[in-house]
Amino acid sequence: MNDRYPGEEPRIADFHCDVLSKLLADPRLDPIDSANNPGPVTLDATLDRQRAGGYMLQAYAIYLTESKHKTMDAVLRSADLFEQKIASHPGYAKVRGRRDLERALQEGKIAALLTLEGADALQGDWALLRTAFALGVRVLGLTWNYANWAADGVLEPRQGGLTAKGRELVDAARDLGLLLDVSHLTDAGFWELVERTERPLIASHSNSRRICPHPRNLTDDQLRALIAMDGRIGLTYVPYFITDRGQAAASDLLPHIEHICSLGGEDQLMLGSDFDGIEQHPAGLRHAGEAGQLRQEVERAYGAAFAEKLLGGNAIRFLRQNLPE
Ligand SMILES: [Zn+2]
Repeated sequence: MNDRYPGEEPRIADFHCDVLSKLLADPRLDPIDSANNPGPVTLDATLDRQRAGGYMLQAYAIYLTESKHKTMDAVLRSADLFEQKIASHPGYAKVRGRRDLERALQEGKIAALLTLEGADALQGDWALLRTAFALGVRVLGLTWNYANWAADGVLEPRQGGLTAKGRELVDAARDLGLLLDVSHLTDAGFWELVERTERPLIASHSNSRRICPHPRNLTDDQLRALIAMDGRIGLTYVPYFITDRGQAAASDLLPHIEHICSLGGEDQLMLGSDFDGIEQHPAGLRHAGEAGQLRQEVERAYGAAFAEKLLGGNAIRFLRQNLPE
């Protein structure tokens, strides 16, 4: 084991956290050492906790809250916080492409991937889209929960799909090499996107709607479509996306895993915790340092080979195949 890793052996890849959103609200928070965040607001996905949990990759979403204007200025400030507070730390390596990813894994650093949750701030302007890509954004979710210029989010009452401009966005993203994320999109938008894209899609943080009937979760047909295109499905720890029976525990993710595997998704499942985007946590998954408990649950239930794929192998394989050089 690498001595830079005092905790678990590195094998966890997490495709969604909202550390940057908390940093934008309070830049005094420390994403490196959790001891420097005495509260009341703390961070779940700090470097010390990721190391204790055995992380090899963390995706950092730029998420702008509904209460503030979703401007490009706020995107730039979030990207700057990512550079200053995370990517520049020797414990991390920023991933813009496959080469960076391999180097990070070899050097035992945590690969840090920048994503954008909601296209709002890009305003349908391809210069802004290219700027986001130039800053290192490699995955774009079209919406958060409501409508924007590109598409309707899952809580928008009219439940529309993509706009004309949103359809153009799909092509512009393909030309850039930017991957698209369907979490938060309406069902109509999901299917239009599937129709329109030749590249595999990601649902970075969504569970099975059959197991937990929440509109943020995916139907069996949606799961089958993602599996057929060799896309990815990131299991999320949001308690009310795990179970509608109140308090959730890490073991309550197992029925989602089993169901998605029954649809053929053994090689497409990954993790998308939503740490730092959630107010309540499942028991046994309160922060990144507890990822080892999930690993134990999955290993006990399905064996070490599948655990390796679910916890990180599937995510890394996807990035190897779909990131730019
Ligand atoms: Zn989200």
